[in-house]
Amino acid sequence: MNQHIVPAPKTGGPVEPSALEDLVLASHILAEQGVLDGYGHCSIRHPHAKERFFLSASLSPAVIATGDIMEYDLDSNPVDQRGRKMFLERFIHGEIYKARPDVNAVVHSHSPTVIPFSVTTVPLQPICHMSAFLGGGVPNFEIHDAAQITDLLIRDNYLGRALAHSLGSFNVCLMRGHGSVAVGPDIMTAVYRAAYTEVNAKLQAQAIALGGPIRFLSQGEYEKIEGRGDKNYERPWRMWKERVTKP
Ligand SMILES: [Zn+2]
Repeated sequence: MNQHIVPAPKTGGPVEPSALEDLVLASHILAEQGVLDGYGHCSIRHPHAKERFFLSASLSPAVIATGDIMEYDLDSNPVDQRGRKMFLERFIHGEIYKARPDVNAVVHSHSPTVIPFSVTTVPLQPICHMSAFLGGGVPNFEIHDAAQITDLLIRDNYLGRALAHSLGSFNVCLMRGHGSVAVGPDIMTAVYRAAYTEVNAKLQAQAIALGGPIRFLSQGEYEKIEGRGDKNYERPWRMWKERVTKP
């Protein structure tokens, strides 16, 4: 058995309990919103160590607790595995944190209304002011270009790197026939973006069903909204938190 030849990476040090509590709440919120189902996951970068991140053990997002949160290095090696099962797709998180120093939270979901936009030629575009963050384009990661025939999962650092490359400097990246990733400078923003990517996909599909040309947000409009300094993610975050914490 050679599995312990590589020593585990060192911890990035202690972290405020509230950071891990917010990560757990984010998972519960996204499960309640129908953005995460039995699968999918969200993570945060270690607040005091840029080369580490936190992600729960492989469990459904709705049931995780702070004791399930594990620390990883950016190659997605666990610091202290203690026999816990790890997400196969943890490499999504490590490689995005490597590629994007501005990103401190990542959500990977299979939210259902988004997937049709990953397998058709219809681009996902911002249809309302709440999803201005989709302005400028939503890339679509084609895993076949990176590794031909796969099971579509991001099972290693190579595929994670290819996905991070497709994401580039955008806020959201679709993954063909699989789902999407949404990123942000903090957990509140990443959760907001994941939730409103699903909302936007629903509204856009409804608009397409109504027929006729669709008037999406113009570049001037989404840039004006995104450029505002008064974006209030705190408001939905508090509401979502209350919904998942009240008995
Ligand atoms: Zn996945």
